Amino acid sequence: MKKLSVLKDYFGFTSFRVGQEELVDNILSGRDTLGIMPTGAGKSLCFQLPALMFDGITLVVSPLISLMKDQVGSLTQAGISAAYINSSLNHSQYIKALQNAKDDKYKIIYVAPERLTTEEFVDFAQNAKISLVTIDEAHCVSQWGQDFRPSYLIIPQFIDRLADRPVLAAFTATATPQVREDIIDKLNLKEPYVLTTGFDRENLFFSVQKPKNKFVALKEYIERNKIKSGIVYCSTRKTVDEVCRNLIKSGFAAVPYHAGLSEKDRRENQDSFIYDKSNIMVATNAFGMGIDKSNISYIIHYNMPKNIESYYQEAGRAGRDGSPAECLLFYGGQDVVINQLLIDNSNGNEDLDKETIEAIKEKDRELLKIMTFYCHTNDCLREYILNYFGEEASNYCGNCSNCNTNFEEEDVTIEAQKIMSCIKRVGQRFGIRMIVDILRGSKNQRIINNSLHKISTYGVMSYVSESRIRDVINFLVLQGYLEITNSEYPVVQLTQKAGEVLFSDCRISMKVQKHYKDEGKPTK
Ligand code: ADP
Ligand code: ZN
Repeated sequence: MKKLSVLKDYFGFTSFRVGQEELVDNILSGRDTLGIMPTGAGKSLCFQLPALMFDGITLVVSPLISLMKDQVGSLTQAGISAAYINSSLNHSQYIKALQNAKDDKYKIIYVAPERLTTEEFVDFAQNAKISLVTIDEAHCVSQWGQDFRPSYLIIPQFIDRLADRPVLAAFTATATPQVREDIIDKLNLKEPYVLTTGFDRENLFFSVQKPKNKFVALKEYIERNKIKSGIVYCSTRKTVDEVCRNLIKSGFAAVPYHAGLSEKDRRENQDSFIYDKSNIMVATNAFGMGIDKSNISYIIHYNMPKNIESYYQEAGRAGRDGSPAECLLFYGGQDVVINQLLIDNSNGNEDLDKETIEAIKEKDRELLKIMTFYCHTNDCLREYILNYFGEEASNYCGNCSNCNTNFEEEDVTIEAQKIMSCIKRVGQRFGIRMIVDILRGSKNQRIINNSLHKISTYGVMSYVSESRIRDVINFLVLQGYLEITNSEYPVVQLTQKAGEVLFSDCRISMKVQKHYKDEGKPTK
């Protein structure tokens, strides 16, 4: 059968979406392939279609046990014989599934990576004709990705044990160059065809806000968007419960979702949201995987997520139908602290050695920093995200809160010099708060105890507001003049680049919002 008729007969589509045909063609030609496409772009079709055209069986390695059932269900409905093999099967179901597989009853078999090492499975695989092995969520093989699964590392060993090497096709929505390299390396892809489709979602408006009172800001937004459907993501179950309760009290139709609720409640709340009975879903990041609701008009992050990948994935659930949608991030300094604690206290859920856990934590801190910069930048937010994913982008999108704000370039050289000298004078030993306090001439006990009120930069910015000094510091971090290093607690330090400013006549200018420019200065 020709691929277009397979596309039509089995999947009901008349044409391919961007990237799909190239991936399908390369897989069919027998070449290893890596497809990097955002969520919702249509990755499944890229391996399901070749699976139908190959002689042998296609194995799909996937970590998402909960989604396997759905996928297999829709394949079966489309008249494609498929099955899944994972820990949700009991022993007799497992043996039966394997027997059916041996009897050649399935064209596509979804399998959890842990199964690849069991004797029964290897025995089946060695005696079967396996044409294609697809590795879904392939970033799980990389320590640099956000959900590293050590069990993914055994995939190449499994492949080596097969009688004939099948075609390997890996897919992911994670596009950082580092992860991409790692996937090719760790999965042992042979001269793969690599395709990345654009990550830009033009219909999404991005905005970072720093509300004094997050709940008030949330309420105002929802009030203005009453009839629309949206998700409010919070970082903890407690916040979900609190925000949801308060929204209901204010008369809105909100439902909560997090791992602490019973399965029944979760399902009910999810259905209520999907079928438009409640138009607001308040949830932790446990909500959303595999949810296909196309008319979500806004995603509000009540707390800053732990990295850009999570953020973009969650925000990307808005506007799936292509109509304009908004992605708002409510940022507060506390969000950084909470995320730092979460990283410090995490121990990895699988049996990893100490060194690996430390390396992962270090990477997580780095990713958190990049997320935090997103909240501080005054440049185009879309450009920032796309650059993060290794894509070139224009520095003006016209559809984000920064592009839509009237900024003015302001010379902050003098302020920068004061801040930097202060950091230098105190021996680069303190965090941002302490530096701000010294510059503003605070009389707090720690300053007095450390005799910091005697240094020359003490009080040199006493007329400047705290938030302004913090903004300049954050800007200097963003520009690479300062860095935050973590020992026992975060400390601000000078970088080499700072020397250029301290000891030369180079100027630094920062984008400042117009009305905000004079805040904190003495009135004339
Ligand atoms: P991903 O795995 O990339 O997140 P899916 O494979 O789940 O995305 O596909 C997302 C949606 O797009 C599904 O509803 C699927 O039916 C639809 N889809 C995929 N390919 C096509 C196509 N060529 N034409 C129309 N719809 C498609
Ligand atoms: Zn922009």
